Amino acid sequence: MKVVKFGGSSVASATQYKKVASILAADPERKAVIVSTPGKRHEGDTKTTDLLIRLAESVGERDFDESAFQAVLKRYQDIIDELELDSSLMTEVEGHLHEVISMYRHSKDRLLDGLKASGEDLNAKVMAAYLTSLGRKATYISPKRAGMIVTDEPGNAQILPESYPEIAKLRDIEGVLVIPGFFGYSYEGNIVTFPRGGSDITGSIIAAGLDVTEYENFTDVDSIYCVSPKMVDQPRELKELTYREMRELAYSGFSVFHDEALQPVVHKKIPVCVKNTNRPEAKGTRIVASRELDGHPVIGIASDEGFCSINMTKYLMNRELGFGRRLLEILEDEGVSYEHTPSGIDNMSVILRSHQLYNGQEARVLNRIREELQVEELYVERDLAMIMVVGEGMNQTIGIASKATQALAQAGANIKMINQGSSEVSMMFGVNVADVEKAVRSLYHIYFPAEVGQKA
Ligand code: ASP
Repeated sequence: MKVVKFGGSSVASATQYKKVASILAADPERKAVIVSTPGKRHEGDTKTTDLLIRLAESVGERDFDESAFQAVLKRYQDIIDELELDSSLMTEVEGHLHEVISMYRHSKDRLLDGLKASGEDLNAKVMAAYLTSLGRKATYISPKRAGMIVTDEPGNAQILPESYPEIAKLRDIEGVLVIPGFFGYSYEGNIVTFPRGGSDITGSIIAAGLDVTEYENFTDVDSIYCVSPKMVDQPRELKELTYREMRELAYSGFSVFHDEALQPVVHKKIPVCVKNTNRPEAKGTRIVASRELDGHPVIGIASDEGFCSINMTKYLMNRELGFGRRLLEILEDEGVSYEHTPSGIDNMSVILRSHQLYNGQEARVLNRIREELQVEELYVERDLAMIMVVGEGMNQTIGIASKATQALAQAGANIKMINQGSSEVSMMFGVNVADVEKAVRSLYHIYFPAEVGQKA
């Protein structure tokens, strides 16, 4: 039995819907299908989720922006019309949106989650209707019926463990199950979404709950590449990588698979296969618990922007008992999560995602550090990017770090920070955002010389 998830571009239009139907028909093992909301149909198009966010933002005490409402309707209308589905589906789409708006109009956060979730919810209903129209036995299953209970934090849901035995019961339902991605229900009865891109998370949860043999994640690329194709022309395709490697790469910018989506499948060692809806015959990339090392100690290079660093200095910091704990306690109190804490003898830095320092948060955090920790020097460094060099084979190979520093030097990128965890599955370099592209290209050239030579 398999779970299959289709991302936004895979369900963006009637043409894409048809591809989904033939992929499902090609393998009877494909039992549960998780759908995203209709995504971009072409460069410059807008995802339905973003149209729904625009609609949510326009909702006032008594009204909302009618053109934003119509823009959402149009996405479903186009699909329903072209597939010649029953027009009553459109009445359902419209009614559902009105219902969510009136239910949550007095709470901005809940309204936003309710409308964002509508995107996948409605799409799952339309997909189930389409498959049924083709003569397939297909049932729409809401996350509530599936038993997906999540925490109550808007936009940041976490699945609760008691959901899994409920999900397992879905095995008994005959035919294909069509389940909307991206959200669950809290005990408080609210619709709560996962972070953006969270349909991958739903797919993984359902895969673990049903205890399937494989989780297939269909998107719009043939495979995961060892480096972003936006930075390097035709980079090496990855046939297989481990959960740990994927987690490191996804954390640091590989958006093809959500970095929170691995957790549910890791325990059960369910392989994830990333495949292309537009070319289902391509083998794709398998993400597995362990793999044979293939002679490439480094398998991927990822990069992500939007970091900053709070740097502080205090003489004899190394002797001050509890300094680190009190620093991290300040961040915890202020609801700021940190990513890394590189340190020297008398200095320490905290690297975090910059978007957290909004609305006076930065001044508050800095004041508290200054006053409570009595530091001598304190400043924030902005516009940092993190580059992650990843590979299970790195811990058995000498000279990986020296190659990286050589590549960064050749690119003229100043290294602001170096970090390597004890597992040695990755090495991280902090550089200025302005240097990131040339740094990644230079790293690619040094770790994958054969590929570069071939394409030259
Ligand atoms: N539709 C949601 C988003 O755009 C979730 C997803 O596509 O996975 O973030």
